Amino acid sequence: MSDALSTDVLIIGGGIAGLWLNARLRRQGFATVLVESASLGGGQSVKSQGIIHGGAKYALHGALTGSAEAIGDMPRRWREALAGDGELDLSGVRLLSDAHYLWSPGTLAGNLTSFFASKAMRTRVDQVKGAQLPPALQDPAFKGKVYRLNELVLDVPSLIARLAELAGDSLLAGQAITPLRDGDQLVGLQVDGRAIRAQRIVLSAGAGNQALLAELGLERPAQQRRPLHMVLVKGRQLKPLYAHCLGGGPKPRITVTSHPAADGQWVWYLGGDIAEADGVARDEAAQIAAARKELSNLLPWIDLADARFATLRVDRAEPAQSGLVRPDNAFLAEQGRLLVGWPTKLALAPDFADRVLASLARDGVQPQPATALPALPRPPLAPPVWEELLP
Ligand code: FAD
Repeated sequence: MSDALSTDVLIIGGGIAGLWLNARLRRQGFATVLVESASLGGGQSVKSQGIIHGGAKYALHGALTGSAEAIGDMPRRWREALAGDGELDLSGVRLLSDAHYLWSPGTLAGNLTSFFASKAMRTRVDQVKGAQLPPALQDPAFKGKVYRLNELVLDVPSLIARLAELAGDSLLAGQAITPLRDGDQLVGLQVDGRAIRAQRIVLSAGAGNQALLAELGLERPAQQRRPLHMVLVKGRQLKPLYAHCLGGGPKPRITVTSHPAADGQWVWYLGGDIAEADGVARDEAAQIAAARKELSNLLPWIDLADARFATLRVDRAEPAQSGLVRPDNAFLAEQGRLLVGWPTKLALAPDFADRVLASLARDGVQPQPATALPALPRPPLAPPVWEELLP
């Protein structure tokens, strides 16, 4: 059996939530161990579109929701981190686009009018034309209006790689997790038979939280999964595009992000309404046909004859909400030494870490004198999904 360990904070799950939290804790002098059962970022995080929302998309119904308020500060915090002078040093992480765009393909739809009626939104968007348009929309045939949002788009694999660097020697590949108790008190976890004692245990395992809670004999907090059926398109004709394309409803008709493949081509990653309920019900061939049709309606000047398509089914994991409403903030629940949560968005990882740090501060949890960790088996980094699906 491996040696027992003791640490300040034991984190389970190496997606954006766990890795960001781990880096913040280590920067504040806490000893940590982060356990990942598969690959770092390989749950939802590297399958995300990498948009650091400022809340604009969630204000499409006109009224400023809590979401727009809570998330409004995230682009600033990420920008500072990317510049190397924020709460974490993320210099070296690849910024794919300094802005995300809102694209109304026809005349101003009603939802766009109400969107601009919101005062806070007026300060965050500017219309762009001509050479300022995203490269894929710079075509004489393009009609419609495009607005620049104060939102960034990141290359998530490079973000995960940087956070793994900041994790130093704290990462541990481990599968079988069971409770470690003193009497009825949870004092740590057994990971593949190795006892790890900790002042606090954080479950940030995304969709894996539910099974971990069950292992600990807990039913709450309840989790919900929101299935998505995303589409990837790779082709020599594709140029970068980062945009929510508006339809008639409150959700973007499609959300396009563009990712550089190792062979120099661009891969478009399509989410938004096309990936939700109707898209989830379609099989792969029907989903690809729907995406082809949508792209040729919206961008008829782009030749997709030679483009290659793939789809990806992935669930968002979130705290349970009535009616599958999108949660507004990072979520954290506390039960004694155990903290459990979901950031609910990649962009909200800083908010998730804030909540954990606030809980530690409130309970007076301080870094304890730590002994050096032995060399631990390290989990691998997840490969980019576009390289796996469209090599
Ligand atoms: P995950 O990234 O899922 O990480 C959880 C980790 O825990 C995984 O690595 C998993 O292997 C590990 N794990 C699970 N069980 C165990 C266990 N028992 N022991 C050890 N480890 C375990 N958000 C945005 O802000 N912007 C976007 O553009 C965006 N686009 C998205 C697009 C898609 C298609 C999806 C699905 C989500 C998107 N999101 C976006 C949401 C965002 O990706 C998630 O909110 C975020 O990545 C969740 O991070 P996480 O660390 O909680 O979970």
